[in-house]
Amino acid sequence: MRQHDNCTPVLRGDGQATTLGKPQVIVTGDVDWASDALIERFCDDLLARGIRPTLFATHRSDRLRSYVDADAIDIGIHPNCFDGSDQGKDADEVLSFLLGLYPEATISRSHGYYDNSRFAARVFAHGLRYDSNTCHIGLPAIAPIPMWTGITRLPVFWEDDIHWAQGKRFVMDQAFRETLTTPGLKILDIHPVHYGFNVDGAAHYEVIKAMTCTATHDDLRRHANAGPGVATFLTSIFDCLDDAKIAVTSFRDWKSRFESISTCASIWSPR
Ligand SMILES: [Zn+2]
Repeated sequence: MRQHDNCTPVLRGDGQATTLGKPQVIVTGDVDWASDALIERFCDDLLARGIRPTLFATHRSDRLRSYVDADAIDIGIHPNCFDGSDQGKDADEVLSFLLGLYPEATISRSHGYYDNSRFAARVFAHGLRYDSNTCHIGLPAIAPIPMWTGITRLPVFWEDDIHWAQGKRFVMDQAFRETLTTPGLKILDIHPVHYGFNVDGAAHYEVIKAMTCTATHDDLRRHANAGPGVATFLTSIFDCLDDAKIAVTSFRDWKSRFESISTCASIWSPR
């Protein structure tokens, strides 16, 4: 059995020992029909920090396409399988639509975490082998989960709007700091619209959400919250990680390491 210094915790197929490594932090965004300016603000801020984000796409976007073409970001899909979806009338149409726009996508996370066995099997049938389709807020030692469908599931560790739904403020505290630095996957899920307007809760979101699809850089300047919010909290997260000497990785690099671990590969290739 080959070990890997930076291995994320791995639950072996035989239920035996986990391998606990450093936290594996990956920054992701659910596009949720955000305007190109919102996508640009989110991506450019992260790229300026040397972080390669993963964007889960919902629609055709020239700006998103330009980042993919430049190989600057990882791209995933954000299927909307709810009634009234503009992506298709059933799972196959939705997946075909999104993968037609972004054939480079290697991971899926559904809008609203929509999931069931039939849908997951269709995601596999469309060629994807990873999803991030569940949320385990604040759970230490999150490990990749091998699903019966053949998909490897990477649960979300923190999500911006769940943070406010839990009644929490966007101010770093010791409890969050300690949880953030435990071993395991630390997938951060941020919405560009929340980031761009530095949303601080449901009330502020109600004010700005109508601008999601059309927001310009000028709108962001005029309507962004100046106090603590999603964007400032993300900066606090990065400061906390810097203090703990924990580097942020990308989905591409994490996947490459994960697939290089032979014991994982044998378990995670059920077909
Ligand atoms: Zn969504």
